[in-house]
Amino acid sequence: MPQTTKDTPMMQQYWAIKKDYQDAFLFYRIGDFYELFDEDAIKGSQLLELTLTARNKSAKDPIPMCGVPHHAAQNYIDILIDKGYKVAICEQVEDPKQAQGMVKREVIQLITPGTMMDQNASTAKQNNYLTALTLIDELYGLAYSDLTTGEVRTTTLHTFNEVINELLNLNTKEVVVDANISEQEQQQLQSLGMMISHDKVLQESSEFNFVNQKLTKQGEQAALKILISYLLETQKRTLSHLQQAESYEIDQYLRLNHSAKANLELFESLRTSKREGTLLWLLDKTKTAMGGRLLKQWLNRPLLNAKLLQQRQEIVATLIDHYFERATLQQALQKVYDLERLAGRIAFGSANGRDLIQLANSLKQIPTIKEVLQQLPEPTLQKLGTSLDDLADIRDLIQRAISEDAPISTTEGNIINDGFNQQLDEYRDAVNNGQNFLVQLEAEERKKTGISTLKVGYTRVFGYYIEVTNANKKNVPTDRYQRKQTLTNAERYITPELKDHEALILQAKEKSTELEYQLFTTVREQIKAQTERIQALAKQIAALDVLQGFAVVSENNHYVRPELSTKQQDVEIINGRHPVVEQVLAANEFIPNSVEMKKDTDILLITGPNMSGKSTYMRQLGLIVIMAQVGCFVPADRAQLPIFDQIFTRIGAADDLISGESTFMVEMKEANDALLHGTRHSLLLFDELGRGTATYDGIALADAIIEYIHDHLGAKTLFSTHYHELTQLAERLPKLRNVHVGATEENGKLIFLHQVLAGPADKSYGIHVAKLAGLPNDVTQHAAQVLSVLEAEGSDLVNDLPTPEQLPLFRIAEEPEPKIEPKQTTQAEAMSPEVSALLAEIKNTNLMQATPIEAMNLINQWQQELNQQNH
Ligand code: ADP
Ligand code: MG
Repeated sequence: MPQTTKDTPMMQQYWAIKKDYQDAFLFYRIGDFYELFDEDAIKGSQLLELTLTARNKSAKDPIPMCGVPHHAAQNYIDILIDKGYKVAICEQVEDPKQAQGMVKREVIQLITPGTMMDQNASTAKQNNYLTALTLIDELYGLAYSDLTTGEVRTTTLHTFNEVINELLNLNTKEVVVDANISEQEQQQLQSLGMMISHDKVLQESSEFNFVNQKLTKQGEQAALKILISYLLETQKRTLSHLQQAESYEIDQYLRLNHSAKANLELFESLRTSKREGTLLWLLDKTKTAMGGRLLKQWLNRPLLNAKLLQQRQEIVATLIDHYFERATLQQALQKVYDLERLAGRIAFGSANGRDLIQLANSLKQIPTIKEVLQQLPEPTLQKLGTSLDDLADIRDLIQRAISEDAPISTTEGNIINDGFNQQLDEYRDAVNNGQNFLVQLEAEERKKTGISTLKVGYTRVFGYYIEVTNANKKNVPTDRYQRKQTLTNAERYITPELKDHEALILQAKEKSTELEYQLFTTVREQIKAQTERIQALAKQIAALDVLQGFAVVSENNHYVRPELSTKQQDVEIINGRHPVVEQVLAANEFIPNSVEMKKDTDILLITGPNMSGKSTYMRQLGLIVIMAQVGCFVPADRAQLPIFDQIFTRIGAADDLISGESTFMVEMKEANDALLHGTRHSLLLFDELGRGTATYDGIALADAIIEYIHDHLGAKTLFSTHYHELTQLAERLPKLRNVHVGATEENGKLIFLHQVLAGPADKSYGIHVAKLAGLPNDVTQHAAQVLSVLEAEGSDLVNDLPTPEQLPLFRIAEEPEPKIEPKQTTQAEAMSPEVSALLAEIKNTNLMQATPIEAMNLINQWQQELNQQNH
């Protein structure tokens, strides 16, 4: 620590505070600025693009320094947090006027990625979770909270893999761990972009006792203790808005691991990483920020409970059928602000007058919502209509107390309405009367002195004055007027009478501002005491909002209500559509497809050319299942579905050819996960599994995996493949059915029908796709020849392959060139050495050890070499 005896008292204070916040940027308040010193300043000036200066510039060792104005600090704090740092806010905690010696300063809050309170438009529909993690008796205890809303949840997990999955699903940015979490585990979380924090001293607190009430599991309680202790330590205030923790088990919900969510593009597009083109994007017709956040939570955890799902479906159906009521509801919801986060700010003590006005304006909408709900013929909605707490008392309090156009600041007055507090009214009268008095005084003095241009005015520095222009100075009554300030053209005076009044007005003003602040905080405290009621209302409004959104998408896109069965596993989707792809295509361009998997069918083996729609068909089923299990209607003419317990996917190898072996490893891990944990109630989507290795390997593995699913798992499975050999499995496996995505040839060109039909594809069309890609005729013709040899029963690749002489390529060289005397040559002589080398290479290539893509690459390479020969 660069502390020396030469340090000024202020720098000594700075170092003493900084000592406890080594891992954070210390924002040290001096006047209207937050200053950063030393290392913080050097790094901070780079990250924040600030000018680096120095304290004690003339001294031998000046201290690097940079600063930001306190009113603009939030932007800078956001940038640092966003880059994964912590920021300690150090304020002056006593009035500088009353301080003896150094003004006392303390860190009043440590802001970290997981405890950001500040929210802007772009984060309104996202939760920001801080997670705490511990390991007790070989079980991981997990607790997390969104500080802005007060939501707290806990769960127990068996493996670190499950932990990683859950943390990725939550998109948590910061994890507080204790010593039970190993270094290696911590590093793994760090490598996934999460900040690891440690809680220094675990403390009991009233907050913990409240939030902990419903918890029973030791690991969850321990994690909660870490979480709350860390929140108290960083936020340094009571956290009365934290809600009672809700414990859950991951298998209470439809399980989808993080990669399945990514593959099915629930929240993020695979290609662009954006929200556009995802299921969340499609379904989000919510009007409130709370609704937006809840929708994301629902999609993260689809339900298994048929009763709850039926209840959601009833509500969606009713809202679809009642267009006008729905419109009224939407208009009301549109005007409801983020109640959860308003409650958070009120409890946190950071809400200002405008926040309270937003709360009151939101509450004004509740009676309308109640009325509409009571008109609807659906019991759950009607009950909600009568039971919703409209918080009239709070609305009334705010309306009486807080001015409609309250300023942002809470300390400069103009917040409290006239008539709310008698004392305040008296102060205000005094100020107003004072103003009247000044007007009268001006008139009187003009009369008395005969100076018609005489003015009474006020400046912050000099207070009240009487101003007389230089030309009139001679008429000033010097017995009463006392000179105060000289300007170029005028002289300013004060009189004893004016001085008395000045004192009165200023005092009244100061007192009234002080009183206003007091009254404001009292009102805020009164509302804070009702936090739980606001949070309860927020939850109900959010759910209603998500469901009206489901009604909107379902109606606009002609979805149907799926029939959910808990008794059997039959899947019957008539004319299903991919909800997102159909949006991007023009009207009627999407070809609907049915999925029928009754008792006699567990596995559909899907063949068909590349680009025909196999992956789309599989994803479509996955998305329809998820939509059904959050309570939304689904894109189909009719849908009968079981309630699935888990969805496993292996999708995307085709999109990720470059990573080669590692892709194959991931493939096998995902397959393993499904085989280990899948049940007869699960859905498996395996897209071209086995593609990442050599052909025979791939076929063998795919075959074995399919048979295992068929004989042991009995899970409903869609398995797409381009290995034709696999279609023969249908002869042996009674519950496997072949389907294919149709394509036809027209004038030698391939036309994709995007239609799923019974039976295996008649051929794989790889060569047609190669044609579509623009490979020259010679190459594709050659490939067709090779193919016919390969397909012939009992063929011997090396011996049966056409000889160079039979190749179309060769015949080109044979063609006589015009105008040149045809020269008698043997075929061998006509060939350049490069071409004959190439032919030898073609002949010696063992196609049986190449994947289709590798074969295509080879052909491409040969073609390029030939083209070079021709020029
Ligand atoms: P595959 O997996 O068979 O290679 P994809 O499922 O990736 O094919 O589909 C290729 C393209 O075909 C998609 O991007 C989509 O535009 C189109 N497509 C797929 N299915 C349909 C369909 N049912 N109706 C219309 N277009 C479709
Ligand atoms: Mg595909």
